[in-house]
Formats: sequence, C-alpha cells, structure tokens
Amino acid sequence: KKKARGLAEVNNKAFPAPPANKLSRARTNSIGRGSMEPDPSKSPTGGSSSLIFLGTGCSGTLPDARCLLKPSTPPCAVCSMGISLPPEGNPNYRLNTSLLVDYCHDDGTHRYILIDIGKTFREQVLRWFVHHKVPYVDSIILTHEHADAVLGLDDVWVVQPRNDRNDVEQIPIFLTQFTMDSIARRFPYLVEQRPEDGDEDAQAAKIDWKIVQDDVEKPFVASALEFVPLPVMHGEGYICLGFLFGRRARVAYLSDVSRFLPKTKHGKKLILVHNSLFR
Ligand SMILES: [Zn+2]
Ligand SMILES: [Zn+2]
Repeated sequence: KKKARGLAEVNNKAFPAPPANKLSRARTNSIGRGSMEPDPSKSPTGGSSSLIFLGTGCSGTLPDARCLLKPSTPPCAVCSMGISLPPEGNPNYRLNTSLLVDYCHDDGTHRYILIDIGKTFREQVLRWFVHHKVPYVDSIILTHEHADAVLGLDDVWVVQPRNDRNDVEQIPIFLTQFTMDSIARRFPYLVEQRPEDGDEDAQAAKIDWKIVQDDVEKPFVASALEFVPLPVMHGEGYICLGFLFGRRARVAYLSDVSRFLPKTKHGKKLILVHNSLFR
C-alpha cells in the first residue's frame, strides 16, 4: 500500500509569517543581553500563532529510494522528479509527517509544540527549524508509535530548551500508555534517563513522559495549549491519535487515518489537516 499526503512542504507556513521580531527571540533573555535592549519575547504585538509543516510525506518518505535504486520501465515519475530539483522547492521531496505548532501567548511569548518526531527529524530540524529560526521545542506530542512518528526521539536532546545557566530543561512528551510501552522497549535509555550503555559522556535527553488517554473527553494541556485527543483507526485494530486544538481558529490534525470512529466526528467549523491514501 502506498501513501501520500496532499500537502506540499514547499511554502509550508499555513498562516502568514509572524513579524520578524519573534524570529530573533531567545529564551535566555535575562543573561547575556544588554539591559537597555527590549525583550522581543515580551512584545505586546508579539506576532501570531502559526503551523509549520515539517513533513507531509509517507512513512517511507519521498522520493522512495527503491524507485531510484531499481528504476522501473518507464521510471517512476514522482520519484524521478523528487531528485530533479532542490528539496526546498520540490513538492515530490517529502519527509515524515510532522507538525510544529508555533503558539503565541497573549503576552507575545511563543511556545513550540511538536507533533511527531519521525525518522527524518534531524533533516527537518536542519531545514525548517533553521529557516524559521525556531530555537527549541517546548513539548512533544506523539500520535502513535510507528517508526515515522517516533524514531527521531534519539535527537530530542538537540532541540531541548536550556535555562539561564545553560542546563537542559526537562521536555514533556505526551503519549498513550500503548505508545509508552513500545517506546520503553525501543528506547530504554530515554525512559530510564541514563546514557547509553558504556558511554558515560553521551548526551541523554531529559524527558518528562506524560500519559494521555485516547478519549475525546480527556483533553490535556501542552505548553499552555489545550489538545483534545481524537482517536481514529489506523488500519483495523490499531488506534492512532489526531488532535483538536487552537483558541481563535480550531484545528483538527489527523495524520494517519484509515477510518473515523463515531465519537471522533466533530460538527464544528474548523481547519482540517488530513492525510490522504491511495493504493
Ligand atoms: Zn517512486
Ligand atoms: Zn503509522
């Protein structure tokens, strides 16, 4: 089964770009900054919230390496185009599905909430975090435990916030108990919070694992923004979470759906972000 999603990563800001002042914001604003310099993170006109689509590709990403290693006759048009242009302007070059919610509080401060951290997370950081000058991630939410949603967890330490003394701050990761059990088997060093065996100097992420319910009646709060879990079927017998969030504009984000459940259907007006499937 092949999958592709209907959103291009090019021009990947869903909403107008926030003012430039937020882009230079740093969390360590009380140290190393001249006392006369205004603090952009406290600006009363501190910009707006936005969605940054870090990836809109299938689990194997595009181009599919198999199409390029063993070309068919005629060659796969999508994957051929996937390497014919630089990735930045190429709708056929797509990374693992992931969304960064840039949430602007009323006081102008920004919080960055990441939904899913898949196999291609490092490349997404290099491409989009650098481009949009996103300095760190405040919290992470996992939709499910498949490789394209979680295998970037080893790189969490790269984007962890640091306090004024440059110590790494704990980052909350929200996930179901089912996902937690799978993560604990695959990333024991992240769950037990110790460096990998035999490598005392290795960087280990500091993570605050937070269990959420796959229940629309049990919303949770990540970085001061409320998320309503939207359980959907992702193949029969496997539940994946989508999320409903946003104060002024309601966004329903559903990245891996094969079938909706009756309790997840929602009548209100909202912005729907939805994967698409084809065979
Ligand atoms: Zn192909
Ligand atoms: Zn999946």
